[in-house]
Amino acid sequence: TELLAKPIEKIRTQMEDLQKADASIARIRGLFETRSSIADGPGAPLPDGPLAVAFDDVTFSYEDNAGEPTLKGLRLSLAPGEVLGLLGRTGSGKSTIARLLLRFYDPQEGAIRIGGADIRHCKLGGLRRRVAMVTQNIEIMEGTIRDNLTFYDDSVPDARIVEVLEQLGLGSWYASMPEGLDTMLASGGGSLSAGEAQLLAFARVFLTDPGLIIMDEASSRLDPLTEQRIEDAIGKLLANRSCIIIAHRLATVQRADKIAILDNGAVIEAGDREALAADPRSRFSAMLATGLEEVLA
Ligand code: ADP
Repeated sequence: TELLAKPIEKIRTQMEDLQKADASIARIRGLFETRSSIADGPGAPLPDGPLAVAFDDVTFSYEDNAGEPTLKGLRLSLAPGEVLGLLGRTGSGKSTIARLLLRFYDPQEGAIRIGGADIRHCKLGGLRRRVAMVTQNIEIMEGTIRDNLTFYDDSVPDARIVEVLEQLGLGSWYASMPEGLDTMLASGGGSLSAGEAQLLAFARVFLTDPGLIIMDEASSRLDPLTEQRIEDAIGKLLANRSCIIIAHRLATVQRADKIAILDNGAVIEAGDREALAADPRSRFSAMLATGLEEVLA
């Protein structure tokens, strides 16, 4: 069996690569096919402050009539200001939930409500101003620091931008920029470290001040100082906002009020984090016992 181990491992990784390629092709096809149906609603208003979220029996397929749906009768709910930790294996549907909240797609069945409004009734611009997505792949565009942080909204005062950078621990980074907020950043981030790029993404969120954040936490490790800054920034980010975190780290999961475990497009366990952690029969406590970071890797 020693002799076979290597070739078997090789076949396994090649199969994985093929599966990934297949998923990417499906994804690109999905982007082209579904976009056109997403249109502005009549303009249901979203309330100020932290936003409630509900998925009411949401069934969704990336392509119509494409066999098994990606989300199957999904139910989730979050009160204003709560933090929900969304856990589940790769492919369980976590990112799909995030995309539906921003209305990149509409579900075939059921409804998604934010702040009480069916999001199909909202204006897209209004929805995307009140709901922010922070992902691990931060897009830095070629442009000034100011434009990267405000997306060309020139109503944001420079002093406010600098204040946010300082609050996030980027004060000395900013001080080293030769032309202050006018310093150009390269497309893709160029000389920025991964930690700095992540913190800049958080700065964008503070400046737009959304009522709901969807955070896809980076799973890669950074140096301890940057980790600490990001930890602190996440703490500030969550204060007085609703948040859905696709979490990869124990420290982040511990910030959640509620947990939902997703498997194959459905919630298989949901509840109060502390209650689930204390219940020896819960999947969540089993995950904690196995080592959450390994389970979620
Ligand atoms: P997770 O974020 O939990 O890893 P995803 O929501 O990305 O899961 O994916 C759920 C399922 O939907 C997977 O089977 C994935 O291959 C599929 N999927 C994701 N995006 C697309 C897409 N754009 N088109 C078609 N299928 C997709």
